[in-house]
Amino acid sequence: MTAVLIDGRKIADDIRREIKSETARLKERQGITPALAFILVGENPASQSYVKMKSKGCDEVGIRSITERLTADVPESDLLRLIDTFNRDETIHGILVQLPLPDHIDEGKVIASIDYRKDVDGFHPINVGKLVAGQDGFKPCTPLGVQELLIRSGNDPGGKHVVIVGRSNIVGKPLANILMQKQKGANAIVTIVHTGTKSISAFTREADILVAAIGRPEFVKGDMVKRGAVVIDVGINRVEDPSAKNGYRIVGDVHFASVSQVASAITPVPGGVGPMTIAMVLRNTLIAAQGKLL
Ligand code: NAP
Repeated sequence: MTAVLIDGRKIADDIRREIKSETARLKERQGITPALAFILVGENPASQSYVKMKSKGCDEVGIRSITERLTADVPESDLLRLIDTFNRDETIHGILVQLPLPDHIDEGKVIASIDYRKDVDGFHPINVGKLVAGQDGFKPCTPLGVQELLIRSGNDPGGKHVVIVGRSNIVGKPLANILMQKQKGANAIVTIVHTGTKSISAFTREADILVAAIGRPEFVKGDMVKRGAVVIDVGINRVEDPSAKNGYRIVGDVHFASVSQVASAITPVPGGVGPMTIAMVLRNTLIAAQGKLL
């Protein structure tokens, strides 16, 4: 079997088009322009590039964005004060503090200081609690993007056994919580495996839908996958490649060549989950501006 490619770029384009028309309608009917504030601390190249991509995404759909850049040695209190300013600013609907933060800053404290109604990343403890309880709230963008990819590619997770490799707070755990809810587009039987799992393959081979989110290049091989499974690769890893222009290439957590021989559908890296994450940031910002979750 050679798997069908799940095209995250195309699906994300469709979603961006929908957001663009909703944004225009919000402006026209209520005079509201959705606005997102990015806070970037330090010079981490990956963080800079993520913020750049997200802010470009905002421009494309009519969301106003501003980026506040703080130096890596900024005192925590200055960062908290900036967040407080955005919390009070009624023209700002979403606040996104790009992680990771420098070691001297308490990430948990920073996240908790964001008004949960502007927490478009979905990391605030109130939003995490709402997600677990099956209540409306902001959900983290990468797992939300995975759910949307499944639904829009015709692979509704309802009644399927989803196995997630990885239990991070930003991908694995929230994805499990999203997909296990008794809701449309969810209702899956979910298993999570991690470094404490003795035989990972014994579980991954049982998956109707297999999601890899571990940060280990090409970890999931073809012999770990059930024939006909749908495979979603969240991983983004740089591996050295002297033949590439910049000396490296990006690969996922899935060994594409072998897994695409047994899976029925698979996401590529790049061009799978990545564009969906950005689309979900934009959608959460629109929802914040619409006041739908207030
Ligand atoms: P993370 O915080 O490092 O968590 C990795 C998880 O994988 C942990 O739960 C860890 O288990 C588990 N794990 C690591 N090695 C393992 C192994 N050998 N066997 C079994 N489990 C293992 O990573 P993350 O932030 O979730 O990111 C995962 C990947 O997704 C990375 O490649 C990251 O770059 C990518 N990512 C992509 C997007 C996107 O938009 N496409 C967004 C976020 C992240 P323990 O808990 O037991 O340590």
